[in-house]
Amino acid sequence: TPVLNVRDLTVTYGNAASRFFKGKPPVAAVDRVSFDILPGETLGLVGESGSGKSTTGKAVLGLIPFKGNVLIDGRNIAGLSQREMRPVRRSAQMIFQDPYASLDPRMAVGKAIGEPMVIHGIGNHSERQDRVAELLRRVGLTPDAATRYPHEFSGGQRQRICIARALALEPKLIVADESVAALDVSVRARVLDLLLELQETMGLAYLFISHDMAVVERMSHNVAVMRAGRIIETGTRREIFENP
Ligand code: ADP
Ligand code: ADP
Repeated sequence: TPVLNVRDLTVTYGNAASRFFKGKPPVAAVDRVSFDILPGETLGLVGESGSGKSTTGKAVLGLIPFKGNVLIDGRNIAGLSQREMRPVRRSAQMIFQDPYASLDPRMAVGKAIGEPMVIHGIGNHSERQDRVAELLRRVGLTPDAATRYPHEFSGGQRQRICIARALALEPKLIVADESVAALDVSVRARVLDLLLELQETMGLAYLFISHDMAVVERMSHNVAVMRAGRIIETGTRREIFENP
């Protein structure tokens, strides 16, 4: 079974309150989009700015309202409340473009990484502490990182911290939305290497959203191209990148 099965996903942002949209019919930011991601595989989602990539990424994790069907690990999240979605969320996590914005500057790194486990009631304090140390090791940071704060780290290290936190609940799928776009080229390459290594060792699947064709070519097994809210082309990496 696919780890992510998306059928006729449609997202229309509410325009009623917007002066800009007054009198205009609402336009679907994502329009009947369908795709599957198998365990351990990466679907690269490309397209120009505003084509609906980010909206798709948020909708498949149930972070914004949508129409259509989204099955995460076989379970349909369509129509579930945030509370009902909680167990499903364990299988799917998100990492964003700006790792500084998604980390609380006042929260020690160990606590930030351990927080999802606390929320889901996993382990006792010392078990979580061991697991935080293990997660830090996995992403290439030393255990002393746990007692330090986000501002003490570089951009690449902060993205590693976000990856460690995303791994805390042992997800099967990670939605990566422009996750390396803010990083310098050499740092970017090493974070991409880490994501590939984690895929290999943990069997992770990625929905890898990026406007950067070179990055998508490097990361993806399959590719979907979006334009104006629709998928206009899909294929294997070879089909998309090697055809004239
Ligand atoms: P991409 O990730 O490909 O740049 P987005 O998913 O961010 O595209 O945006 C798709 C469309 O939805 C764009 O037209 C954008 O302006 C619109 N949009 C995105 N977020 C919102 C929002 N919160 N409210 C209204 N419209 C939005
Ligand atoms: P609790 O005491 O209920 O575990 P805390 O909010 O103190 O809750 O911490 C949450 C989790 O974050 C801890 O269980 C632990 O796994 C992790 N954590 C917090 N601080 C550290 C630290 N300094 N080193 C390693 N892990 C930490």
